[in-house]
Amino acid sequence: MVNKISHIGIAVHSIDEAMKFYQKLGLELEATEIVESQKVKVAFLPVGEVRIELLEATSEHSTIAKFIAKKGEGIHHIAFSTDNIRDRLKEIEEKGIRLIDKLPRLGAHGANIGFLHPKFTHGVLVELCEENDN
Ligand code: ZN
Repeated sequence: MVNKISHIGIAVHSIDEAMKFYQKLGLELEATEIVESQKVKVAFLPVGEVRIELLEATSEHSTIAKFIAKKGEGIHHIAFSTDNIRDRLKEIEEKGIRLIDKLPRLGAHGANIGFLHPKFTHGVLVELCEENDN
């Protein structure tokens, strides 16, 4: 159903500030992107097949701003790669897991994404991600 970890989403106050740390680990910035629908700026840092996805709020109404206000900076979500995300979300719901996104929506990198409800995933916000390989 899921075949690998796509990325780990980390909420930060400032991508520029956080990059100072990640550069010390030897990681490089691949790209940044604004995702208007989620009011976030996203930065991707490849690590092998996985990416670190830094998330910076572009508005106080962003879920990332609310997350940081409540919990501080830190791991926000884990994203698993999958194919046919529309069918996968439906199957997961049929298995009794509540979804935040019943239908996939557009995320960064042109990926189709859907979040599962953390009450049903032992406290981890899980994203399914159907990557667009272009
Ligand atoms: Zn993500």
